[in-house]
Amino acid sequence: MTEETIFSKIIHREIPADIVYQDDLVTAFRDIACKAPTHILIVPNELIPTLNDVTEKDEIMLGRMILVATKIAKREGIAEKGYRLIVNCNRHAGQEVYHLHMHLLGGKPLGPLLGGLPKTLAR
Ligand code: AMP
Repeated sequence: MTEETIFSKIIHREIPADIVYQDDLVTAFRDIACKAPTHILIVPNELIPTLNDVTEKDEIMLGRMILVATKIAKREGIAEKGYRLIVNCNRHAGQEVYHLHMHLLGGKPLGPLLGGLPKTLAR
């Protein structure tokens, strides 16, 4: 059996967290060290360590993660101005918790993620 993570404990309500949504496939809760006014993590209830570990059987859950993110964005009032969804995979992306999760960030201008387009292309 795969080891429990801190996120499994949140999902099973063994440790406290500000859970904003839960259903049969995913749980969403506020990030403890928020990097934006809205910073919510959307997490599969089943422990999948990284994006590299998803398979065809996870298609519905992966769709649910995005759908839930869009619903929460609307509920948080950030949908119109915009938000960012991020999934970090492994060390080069800075993944810290090895339980797949999607960051929903918004509530302020987030700046260009990749430094923006080169000036020659930005028309
Ligand atoms: P990542 O770098 O993509 O693995 O992001 C992990 C995120 O989990 C970080 O933004 C942490 O602040 C967040 N985090 C870690 N522990 C907790 C916790 N107990 N409750 C809520 N968020 C957490």
